[in-house]
Amino acid sequence: MSRGLVWFRADLRLGDNPAWAAATSDHEEVVALFVVDPVLWEGSGSHRRDQLAAHLGALDRSLQRRGGRLRVRRGDPARVIPAEAEGAARVYWNGDATPYSLRRDAAVLNALGFRGEEHPGRYVHPPGSVLTGEGAPFRVFTPFFRAWQSRPWDPWPEPGTAAVAADPGEGVPAGGRPLVEPGEEAAAQRLEDFLERVDGYSEERDRPDRAGTSRLSADLKFGTIGPRTVALRVDGPGEGRRAFIRQLAWREFYAHLLAAFPETRRRAMRPEYEGVAWRRDDDAFAAWAEGRTGYPFVDAAMRQLRAEGWVHNRPRMVAASFLVKDLLIDWRRGERHFLRWLVDGDVAQNVGNWQWVAGTGADAAPYFRVFNPVTQGLRFDPDGAYVRRWVPELAGLPAPAIHAPWEAPPAVLDAAGVVLGTTYPPPLVDHAEARAAALEAYEAAKRPRPA
Ligand SMILES: Cc1cc2nc3c(=O)[nH]c(=O)nc-3n(C[C@H](O)[C@H](O)[C@H](O)COP(=O)(O)OP(=O)(O)OC[C@H]3O[C@@H](n4cnc5c(N)ncnc54)[C@H](O)[C@@H]3O)c2cc1C
Repeated sequence: MSRGLVWFRADLRLGDNPAWAAATSDHEEVVALFVVDPVLWEGSGSHRRDQLAAHLGALDRSLQRRGGRLRVRRGDPARVIPAEAEGAARVYWNGDATPYSLRRDAAVLNALGFRGEEHPGRYVHPPGSVLTGEGAPFRVFTPFFRAWQSRPWDPWPEPGTAAVAADPGEGVPAGGRPLVEPGEEAAAQRLEDFLERVDGYSEERDRPDRAGTSRLSADLKFGTIGPRTVALRVDGPGEGRRAFIRQLAWREFYAHLLAAFPETRRRAMRPEYEGVAWRRDDDAFAAWAEGRTGYPFVDAAMRQLRAEGWVHNRPRMVAASFLVKDLLIDWRRGERHFLRWLVDGDVAQNVGNWQWVAGTGADAAPYFRVFNPVTQGLRFDPDGAYVRRWVPELAGLPAPAIHAPWEAPPAVLDAAGVVLGTTYPPPLVDHAEARAAALEAYEAAKRPRPA
């Protein structure tokens, strides 16, 4: 009997999954394998681990309905996969774009020889396939987006009816309570729920106090939903649908960018900003990470990150900007912190967005665009509902005072039970002064150095 092995890594679904489809149509039996790679497992925070464990459980249940099991092994994939592939004619997986995954997959491929077969599946178009007229990678989003939209979709294989092997190996790792209901059916339902709201997306998407976005980022990260499924279901006329497809393309852009420029995992895409004189201030970093900066919109974001691992894009941007521009702390420190805590934490997305906020990355976000944490709060959380939820000690303050409590009259603070310095911290820095210092530090980094 011909046997294939499918190595599940991120695409934790059976539908719209090219590696799974190819294996189930090429063979009579498939082994469905997930390798708990200690490098990735230990590097993930509890939110992502809990969600991953829950998704693996759901995938195992889907496979049981087909008469098989998800086989789980722990270890270095470069050793585990060849051992598990004994007796398998071919090994199938969907490729990814991060430097770590490329190194890991090259090692596995090397060990397997001709038996390894990589498929796309993580993105609508695989990284490396959307190029300029000269065959170069795009560095700017808008032309990338045009090329990405007009490129025809490569065909993906149709699934077959192979039997699924039933040995569960070490079994699915234990995990705590996940943020969202696990599995591809639940993810499909989340997409359907969002489609009820998609027409309002372009007006609502910047409001963290409302449920205006899809919250599909973790499903796209774990691959409990396929990017093409999302693109196909959302595609259509209307401002909301168009705005959403554009965001989906940002996800693709950052993956393509990291695949083309792997050094940007750690280094500024614009080399002139490698020389910014970042401050090493552990107390300020801790205040930021723990949501004690005294800027309520920033603190709400950082507390939501710890509590549930998902943060709306607007407060993500403002909190990241605060670390880099107001505290002048290296974006890489913030990037590491986010990657650990985010349930959707993904190297390509996280690095791309941090570099965008820091003004060191691709595209036209200039370094001198500095988010003002007070005006951002006033504009995008006008009633203060988002802050009230995550910074409950300020809940008694009315808007607009809730976004700048240090400016509120004493009677308003008294009435809300807020004592600055006791129940809630005063601002860690003066935003206007910090902004000026950041601009000077960026300017200095660009000035030619004396020989
Ligand atoms: C500093 C910083 C770090 C980030 N780190 C991550 C990360 O590790 N993983 C991650 O998935 N997203 C990251 N983002 C992007 C963005 O904040 C989230 O994708 C978004 O908030 C997810 O919510 P949603 O699914 O409701 O988004 P929606 O508004 O519904 O957008 C739909 C989908 O489009 C994609 N998308 C939306 N905005 C962006 C964006 N700015 N960049 C790339 N893709 C986008 C996501 O896949 C998202 O699920 C980061 C943003 C910032 C500012």
